[in-house]
Amino acid sequence: MSLNELEKENQELKRTLRLMLSKAERNESVLNSFFDVEIRLLSCARLSELLDLMLIEFKDLFKLSNVNLILFDPEHAARTLLDDYVPPPPGNTLQFVQSQRLLKSLYPNQKLIVGAPSEAVRREAFPVADNPIESCALLPLIRQNCLIGSLHLGSADASRYTQHVRYDYIQHLASVISVCIENCINQENLHRLSSIDMLTKVHNRRSFDQEIVRELSRASRANHSLACLFMDLDHFKVVNDTYGHQTGDRVLRTVGLFLGKQLRKTDIIARYGGEEFAVLLPNCDKARAMEIADTLRQKLSRLIFRDENAKPFRMTTSVGVSLCTPANYPKESLNNIAYQLIQSADKAVYESKHNGRDQVSFTQFQEPQIDLSQMLN
Ligand code: GH3
Ligand code: MG
Ligand code: MG
Repeated sequence: MSLNELEKENQELKRTLRLMLSKAERNESVLNSFFDVEIRLLSCARLSELLDLMLIEFKDLFKLSNVNLILFDPEHAARTLLDDYVPPPPGNTLQFVQSQRLLKSLYPNQKLIVGAPSEAVRREAFPVADNPIESCALLPLIRQNCLIGSLHLGSADASRYTQHVRYDYIQHLASVISVCIENCINQENLHRLSSIDMLTKVHNRRSFDQEIVRELSRASRANHSLACLFMDLDHFKVVNDTYGHQTGDRVLRTVGLFLGKQLRKTDIIARYGGEEFAVLLPNCDKARAMEIADTLRQKLSRLIFRDENAKPFRMTTSVGVSLCTPANYPKESLNNIAYQLIQSADKAVYESKHNGRDQVSFTQFQEPQIDLSQMLN
């Protein structure tokens, strides 16, 4: 072999090596971004966050033209968590199904589907695609051998998903997504169950005690006031004694529902004790808090309840109001302030009872003295 030929072969080898290196680097970067996506999926604490990641961000992350998701949600376990969820922009859809019919027809063998979509797949998997879907990957979401949903990745590029390539990563992604969906739904529902009062479906006392600290912290940061209302039904024992405990329960349920309808979404409503409700009104001054309290009192006194025999009766309510004016509270004192705010509202209820019930009273909230020695610890 001549020197010239050797030199040529050497050049050729160097070029091949460069190509292989750049391919390896590309593969590594793709793999790293896949890992990043996986970590982001696994760190989603809420279903809404997970849905936004898949339905909005996947489109850019994976350079897709459409992403659609179908979730099997027979008992509305997912939908109840999405009251405030803002659906993704048109083109990406989220669909809930009550039966497995559609999922089973998409995946007769529970296997990943890749390639050019058939007319039926186009219709079922990409119902509102704004761009033509030339190739797609349909990911069956499976938990415990049961189809819980289906994620559809659509591309305008015909060569993007082809039947001749193995899609181990997408298969893996489908498993991760399935676990994440199930996990978010279970975690959030568990949290809900532990924070709501089963009878009235408003917050329970434990949750209220957490919310008041959270709201105080928010009010302190935004320099807002925070009003606290305590509402105690008058002579509730008489309702139980006269009409029975079940009718009493129905009254409590109706009051919880009524408060939920009357107040803003940002207000916190809780059943604090047996027949006592507590309400937090963020960013509300004294005059407004008193006005809201009195409107609620009046409306409650006009509600007509019925006993087991449909016999009508009414109830009145004593209300106590306290208010925390805007101030920059140190984090360490929030528990103490919350306690004082509750105590003041409770004292105001007592005053309403003492003065004849069916009225609203106000107790000035006393800001606790901050123990500076504790803060220095
Ligand atoms: P007041 O006007 O002074 O508040 O009188 P009251 O009868 O409303 O207050 P009291 O504290 O004497 O009685 C509260 C009653 O609420 C007694 C209790 O049996 C009843 N109660 C507490 N929790 C429940 C519940 O979950 N369901 C029903 N039906 N009754 C309850
Ligand atoms: Mg009471
Ligand atoms: Mg009472």
